Amino acid sequence: MLKLPGLIDPHVHVREPGQTHKEDWDSATQAALAGGVTLILAMPNTKPPIFDAATLDLALESARQKARCDYAQFVGAGPDNADILRSLAAQAAGLKMYLDSTFGELRLDDMTLWMPHFQNFPKDSPVVLHSESRTMAAGILFAALYDRPVHIAHISLKEEVLLIKAAKERGIKVTCEVCPHHLFLSKDDIPAIAHGHPGRGEVRPRLATKEDVDALWKNMEVIDCFATDHAPHTLQEKDSDNPPPGFPGLETLLPLLLTAVDDGRLTMDEIVQKSVINPRNIFRLPEQPETWIEVDEKAEYEIKAVNQFSRCGWTPFEGWKVKGQVRKVTLRGQTAFEDGKILAEKGFGRNIRDQ
Ligand SMILES: [Zn+2]
Repeated sequence: MLKLPGLIDPHVHVREPGQTHKEDWDSATQAALAGGVTLILAMPNTKPPIFDAATLDLALESARQKARCDYAQFVGAGPDNADILRSLAAQAAGLKMYLDSTFGELRLDDMTLWMPHFQNFPKDSPVVLHSESRTMAAGILFAALYDRPVHIAHISLKEEVLLIKAAKERGIKVTCEVCPHHLFLSKDDIPAIAHGHPGRGEVRPRLATKEDVDALWKNMEVIDCFATDHAPHTLQEKDSDNPPPGFPGLETLLPLLLTAVDDGRLTMDEIVQKSVINPRNIFRLPEQPETWIEVDEKAEYEIKAVNQFSRCGWTPFEGWKVKGQVRKVTLRGQTAFEDGKILAEKGFGRNIRDQ
């Protein structure tokens, strides 16, 4: 049995408040524990979005009652909430800015709306950008102009990893994460995932070309974190005429990474570095005392949605054969998961930003 520290997933869509038919603080944190993840950072694009004191309280109250693993909640940048968010920074996982999306309360239609956030949000609090391709380049320019760290969510393209590499070489304070689905899947896999339902292949950023995927693997040292971007939607929604983009990922992250270790594509040290040490440093997270996971490196099994705790009921990795299974999770001295069973109670999870 292999012992690792509890993993940190800095990018999870819990779906509560507002869309608890696909996930909530209970089911998301069960999925986390089953995947060997003991600390999640929750994204703010819920319904309503988390963008002021009242909505932050709403999310944190649900989390306080239901979460089974530790957590923190991001706040979302909107067109006129930079002052409010500055005052909430200490209570939040960090600030999430959606630079490519132009809808809802978290819309940032032009770059003048980015400025007050870069100006006001405390420099020692994390800022995460959803920014793809050339928008990412603009985000990195902002990091340089305002001389503050930024973390780029879910990079997927060769041009992105190469630009981040160049920016890091120039001393710009930029870090980044990559999702398992952008490492293990390319657009060539969409027909197999879709099974005649094209919506099931929809994710943002989109699955990229084989060349992009190869570039991510080749530049693994540029990638700071693994993050799932766990974004559950029900199959009914995925198979509808207007399918929402997103894949679940909490329960498949570690088995996929361990299989890559077995294949000689990744090292165990890289898993610990990118799923524990780097996220802890980038997001200024406390160490979780007496917390570890036990993994059977030799166990081979098939990924099946029916065995998962996520409420969404499907996975793009259905039927994949993996090697490496989470057997036991110990969180703050208590057995939280063992042999397929969640043992942590609702409400056991702690907000790591609580003073
Ligand atoms: Zn996301």
